[in-house]
Amino acid sequence: MLQLITILNQCHHFAGFVYQHARLSRDKKSIEVAVRPRKGSAAVCSRCHQTAPGYDQLAERRFEFIPFWGFLVFLLYSMRRVDCQRCGAVVVEKVPWGDGKHQSTKAHMLFLARWARRLSWKETAEAFHTSWDKVFDAVEHVVTWGLEHRTLGEIDAIGVDEIQYAKGHKYLTLVYQIDLGITRLLWVGKERTVESFRGFFTVIGDDLASKIVFVCSDMWQPYLKVIREKCSDALHILDRFHIVAKMNKALDEVRAEESGRMKREGQAPVLRKSRWLLLKHQRNLKGDQRFRLRDLLRHNLKTVRAYLLKEAFQQLWDYNSPSWAGKFLDEWCRQTMRSRIEPMKKIARSLRQHRELILNYFLAQKLLSSGVVEGLNNKAKVTMRKSYGFRTPCCGSRAPMSWCGLVIR
Ligand SMILES: [Zn+2]
Repeated sequence: MLQLITILNQCHHFAGFVYQHARLSRDKKSIEVAVRPRKGSAAVCSRCHQTAPGYDQLAERRFEFIPFWGFLVFLLYSMRRVDCQRCGAVVVEKVPWGDGKHQSTKAHMLFLARWARRLSWKETAEAFHTSWDKVFDAVEHVVTWGLEHRTLGEIDAIGVDEIQYAKGHKYLTLVYQIDLGITRLLWVGKERTVESFRGFFTVIGDDLASKIVFVCSDMWQPYLKVIREKCSDALHILDRFHIVAKMNKALDEVRAEESGRMKREGQAPVLRKSRWLLLKHQRNLKGDQRFRLRDLLRHNLKTVRAYLLKEAFQQLWDYNSPSWAGKFLDEWCRQTMRSRIEPMKKIARSLRQHRELILNYFLAQKLLSSGVVEGLNNKAKVTMRKSYGFRTPCCGSRAPMSWCGLVIR
């Protein structure tokens, strides 16, 4: 009879360790495989990666392995500690199947991370009876491993992006390399704080960071702060699609508020079912939608005025000269500030505050071709999001509807 141990020795064998026996767990839901050091083999110090004399043994740990025939599989092993002369300390040993404090084996993390490129992270977790956090750990581990084990070469351009992965304030920070010809996920971290984003720069080191030429981000303050700190020489571009998305969000707020008020006051429901008419780009509207929009625009409504401001703003991207773009931006903000539409005024204030970064877009366009800048801005990121199982609800259209609307399926 072919035994589990025989199979394991075929596919997951490590010199210096033996699989002792395999058994079903008490609740019969998982398979537990006991591992012990081979007699006479010395433990390896996890700091200096050299063998060292044993000190003691810790309590048994469970390392999750690739599930098998519907059972979860765990390797059970009591880690040894070594008295390492080189490090001058008592250090826990390094085991070849695990990585630091991770509860999963490397094989299991690789397994999950591979599936997480085909399925969403949530689906991956469900399919293999594990948690979203473990899938995150797996992807993080594999991406970090990749970053540490390849020659990075120079990175000219990076994009930083946030993704909301659960309700409430649960975000990931993703950093992509978006050089021409090379787009790849470089780093993924939990949260979207100054600390978490700094983690990326710790991994790549100051030397590489200082050579970055372009950075593309949204207006999230902690990102802006870290970019100023770590890539002070880079040309920092604000993601144009995030700006458009913010504007759509403000418009939607105005519409919802006004529509609700009209309903309460018993007025004709002219704003009913207008949401997509207003949020979609005019040229993407179908025939009858165009008529309905034209009708709607005859009304003297706050929503209509906000819509016209939003549409007028689109012209900004047609400018070539940064100084003319600047004049247009200032004029748009001036008009908007007089509109008495609070959500739009809020946008104008924020655009004023980030004026320089917005105009960097036009500088970048002068340095590169506009196609490249567009690519820097969005395409690479949308592709990467998709390939890592993130979904943006409107990635088919040019502008995501809501900048926080990125969800992980
Ligand atoms: Zn050592």
